Amino acid sequence: MNRFSILVGDITRSDAKAIVNAANTSLLGGSGVDGAIHAAAGPELLEECRTLGGCETGRAKLTRGYRLPAEYVIHTPGPIWRGGNDGEAAALASCYRSCLELAEEHGIETVDFPSISTGVYGYPMAQAAAVALKAILDFLRGHDLPRQVRMVCHTEQAARIYRQTYNMWYAGSKAERL
Ligand code: ADP
Repeated sequence: MNRFSILVGDITRSDAKAIVNAANTSLLGGSGVDGAIHAAAGPELLEECRTLGGCETGRAKLTRGYRLPAEYVIHTPGPIWRGGNDGEAAALASCYRSCLELAEEHGIETVDFPSISTGVYGYPMAQAAAVALKAILDFLRGHDLPRQVRMVCHTEQAARIYRQTYNMWYAGSKAERL
């Protein structure tokens, strides 16, 4: 089985051991995927999030998944897009790495990501895809865990952009596909 794949779906229905939440720094819920995850997990998730004292942009914190099929939620606040010269790419790469490090620390074998920062936070999808894919694939090359990572895009259009970026990546390189 491939260690990495891109699919279209609703991450709240994911059967991965952990799903990632594109949170905000308060960790107290928001719109988009954050709102959908809290709605599906139930009020216990917000209760646990209240104990965490927020989270810095680019870092990550782990909670249980409560009523979600996923056992854990890894919350990471992505950067707000401010035109691209304000450290957005480094912060976004740090989100993906921090989530994967946390998963590894907890022995989590399967992780599903949404497309962090590309909703309300306004990060252009193609640029976000390039950052996300590089961060994920670099991490997987150097680590045995997580065993499997999926990008769960909410729309076919987003998945197309992620797939195109992934294919372009390998077209010009001798790197082995993951
Ligand atoms: P951010 O504030 O980080 O931009 P958003 O939740 O607004 O977070 O959007 C992040 C991405 O998550 C967007 O590309 C959006 O289409 C996607 N998204 C929204 N709901 C879901 C869902 N249920 N499953 C997967 N992805 C989702």
